[in-house]
Amino acid sequence: MDRSAVRIIGAGPTGALLAILLQRRGHAVELYETRPDPRGRPPESGRSINLALADRGIHALQLAGVFPDLEQALLPMRGRLIHDAEGGTSLQPYGQRPNELIYSISRHRLNQTLLEVAARQPGVTVHFEHRFEGAEFDEGTALIRDLRGGRLISVPMHPLLATDGAGSWMRRSMNSAHLIGAHETDLEHGYKELSIPADAAGRHRMARDALHIWPRGNFMLIALPNDDGSFTATLFLAKHGEVSFESLTEPAAIERFLSQNFPDARELMPDRVAEFKDHPVGFLGTVSASPWHHQGMTALIGDSAHAIVPFHGQGMNCCFEDCVEFDACTLEHASWERVFAEFGALRKPNTDAIAVMALDNYLEMRERVAHPKFQLQQALSLELERRFPQRFIPRYSMVMFHHEIPYQTALRRGTVQAELLAELTAGASTLSDIDFERAEREIRARLAPLN
Ligand SMILES: Cc1cc2nc3c(=O)[nH]c(=O)nc-3n(C[C@H](O)[C@H](O)[C@H](O)COP(=O)(O)OP(=O)(O)OC[C@H]3O[C@@H](n4cnc5c(N)ncnc54)[C@H](O)[C@@H]3O)c2cc1C
Repeated sequence: MDRSAVRIIGAGPTGALLAILLQRRGHAVELYETRPDPRGRPPESGRSINLALADRGIHALQLAGVFPDLEQALLPMRGRLIHDAEGGTSLQPYGQRPNELIYSISRHRLNQTLLEVAARQPGVTVHFEHRFEGAEFDEGTALIRDLRGGRLISVPMHPLLATDGAGSWMRRSMNSAHLIGAHETDLEHGYKELSIPADAAGRHRMARDALHIWPRGNFMLIALPNDDGSFTATLFLAKHGEVSFESLTEPAAIERFLSQNFPDARELMPDRVAEFKDHPVGFLGTVSASPWHHQGMTALIGDSAHAIVPFHGQGMNCCFEDCVEFDACTLEHASWERVFAEFGALRKPNTDAIAVMALDNYLEMRERVAHPKFQLQQALSLELERRFPQRFIPRYSMVMFHHEIPYQTALRRGTVQAELLAELTAGASTLSDIDFERAEREIRARLAPLN
């Protein structure tokens, strides 16, 4: 691989991590970002405030040497704390080993840290307030606007990596030029963030070591802890229709909706009506593109190539895994065109698989978690993992705690496991009703050992 300079557009989580990894391989990196430098500034509003970080993301951050800078900022969550309609709660653990946790982290803190680490690497230059505005594919140049003076700069591509997120301008440019096929599938539901402040002593007002869920069938509320004692709650709801963001505009209707569906959470949100009216409804969707590159000129990486809905908490984790795999491809292949082609061929089946699982998890979180049959199947899958650890790992655990298991394997094995769980729990109401000898026979017949 030649050690040519690499240009990256978009200094979000993917662009910043990629800059760090490529710099380590000896590339000079020019990173262009529309927004102003976030370092030393308060967070911008309008984007999810905290994120769930899991094993795939942590593994990538460790490989890049960034994890020690972030470890202090992580808040462990050991399971889903389900809030039922009557105000009762129950914990569904995510895993069964001490390290089987996921972590809440501030998006702003994560971005800042990645940029701090990237910017202190010799050979990495970050150009804030520089917006990519178009590509001249015949000439192999990209047009970037310096927003501070308005000047338009032309930079060579070969290679230019587009990590400009779900609404990627580069993806749309490549699609308009018929260089790739791309489409965006809009979910009928959107999201809105609401806050649950700390108590007077600065402490969390609910268990801080869990991800809180209020599953209500066609919609749900979730809340993740922040390190200042607050929680960020996110309401996922239809955008249009009888019960929807569109229909909930009047204070009385908002109050009625919250008190009917989330009475316990409502009491903890003093600014609920003002926030409900002021905060935007966020877009949720899935991006699909193929191929992800044009010659050796440019490639889409991260959300620009494959944004997914947030219900598995894997979007950014998946993007970080992209960076690791892309970095590995640069070691294996001599030309950027080969790197791009191999990266796409290896990675797309996995990003397609997590896109499917992320959509499926919406149904699981807003509806299935509340059903006794689902709860029995959850308990059984943990028990089967205890008894047959090399053969049976719950799908959620494969995705969240096993970076060595590709997403496509998790999806394939998860489908077989789901059938098995349904068969084994038919007519059962507790674990003592399960025929474990049959379970063992079926697992041996249907699931090859992992590794
Ligand atoms: C509500 C919600 C909750 C989520 N929760 C989780 C979670 O819990 N766990 C998880 O793993 N993932 C989560 N995600 C997904 C996660 O946010 C994304 O996968 C991740 O941010 C993608 O990173 P990225 O760098 O590829 O794109 P982005 O984060 O979108 O960053 C793109 C960057 O490019 C810049 N940019 C855009 N256009 C241009 C341009 N023309 N020129 C220059 N710069 C440009 C932007 O300013 C931005 O800085 C969530 C997403 C949403 C919407």
